[in-house]
Amino acid sequence: MRDKSRLQMESTELLRTLIRNACVNSGDPASGQEVRTVEALEGYFAGSGLHCERYEAAPGRVSLITRIEGRDPSAPTLLLMGHTDVVPVSPDGWQRDPFGAEVDDGIVWGRGAADMLNITATMAVATRHLAAGGFRPRGTLIYLAAADEEAFGTYGVQYLMERHPEAIATDYVVTEGGGVPVPTRSGLKFSLAVGEKGVNWRRLVVHGTPGHGAMPYGGDNALVTAAEVVRRIALYRPRAAILDVWRRYVASLDLDPSVAAGLMDPERVVETASRMEVRGFARLAHACTHTTFSPNIAHGGLKVNVVPDRVEIDVDIRALPGVPPKDVDAMLAEAIGDLGARVEVQTLCADEGSISSTETPLADALARATAALVPGSQVVPRLMAGATDARYFRWKGVTAYGFALHSPRIPQSEYSLMYHGNNERVDVESLGLTAQLWDALCHDVLG
Ligand SMILES: [Zn+2]
Repeated sequence: MRDKSRLQMESTELLRTLIRNACVNSGDPASGQEVRTVEALEGYFAGSGLHCERYEAAPGRVSLITRIEGRDPSAPTLLLMGHTDVVPVSPDGWQRDPFGAEVDDGIVWGRGAADMLNITATMAVATRHLAAGGFRPRGTLIYLAAADEEAFGTYGVQYLMERHPEAIATDYVVTEGGGVPVPTRSGLKFSLAVGEKGVNWRRLVVHGTPGHGAMPYGGDNALVTAAEVVRRIALYRPRAAILDVWRRYVASLDLDPSVAAGLMDPERVVETASRMEVRGFARLAHACTHTTFSPNIAHGGLKVNVVPDRVEIDVDIRALPGVPPKDVDAMLAEAIGDLGARVEVQTLCADEGSISSTETPLADALARATAALVPGSQVVPRLMAGATDARYFRWKGVTAYGFALHSPRIPQSEYSLMYHGNNERVDVESLGLTAQLWDALCHDVLG
């Protein structure tokens, strides 16, 4: 009991420090400056016997690794991974200072409180607690505080994979992407992120013929063509694919059998989800069963009296696992149809999705630890729509999951609004639970 409240208190204080460090990653290589949080973590680990290593990919873009070496080289290695950067804020939409780390009525407010400084902090607290307590496991524990997750991991995990693969060689990874409880008739269900969709960004360059804006009739205006291209992409409806992970997720929700059947039917999944009361469920159901296309940026035109001859449209495409980039391009061509001849497609990013098996000793251990901490609950696999650093590990065949343990205090529907949104926050009970989870997991997996 004493340990429990100490883990919660230390996690809360460390999280507040990380929020105040405001390692905001705008995508500019000079932003982020995660070195501030690396210094804070070094200070936190001091005196525990843990040795910290810095990995600097660019000035100020530092990741930290510390490890508890195992006694048995044949035992598995577990890597606990948290990112230290956060996305920018629109302060006007916040009820509190986004970087003030205020605690009010057991809730910590601030950018990163849910994505994912909460997990980064609790993983550090569990690691320190284990080291200071003399934990000498069979397997090796690695703690990684990674820079630059919010902009592709170029200066974080991608850099480590390319330049220091030995430092992060592991059998198992746990990071963000799950753990928000869904209340069902048969108890709380915690989602375990076992995979994620492939990020495919395309730039569509739409061509036309320049001319005088005062005489548009019969012209070849690239902006007019681009408007139709955008409309076609927005209306494009690829057929749904019901993956096994979606089927298992739906089955676990313990819904009315006719609703569950609708959610597992490619012809009816979106329509069925749209009728459900849970806010945001249709969006989730659509994303988990489709490769999605979202035209998000348009640039074009030179001057108001010049008919534009070139417009660029950037499209964010998220492919289901198993849908390779060439299939994404075929779908895009199908969406654009006969306007394809006027459009040049450039590839900005073409990543495959990734998925880990749900039948692993790590999944079993997470389920055991969760059931012990939240009696009567269950862990259920789910696909993530967004991308995390876990993909770098899954591409190499390493089992990687996203998990944490959130209390039901903040309702499930709030989370999708908080990630990269306003009023990001976490309750301290969730921090305590999650720190205990890592502690139990390390004992279970590493022995
Ligand atoms: Zn994140």
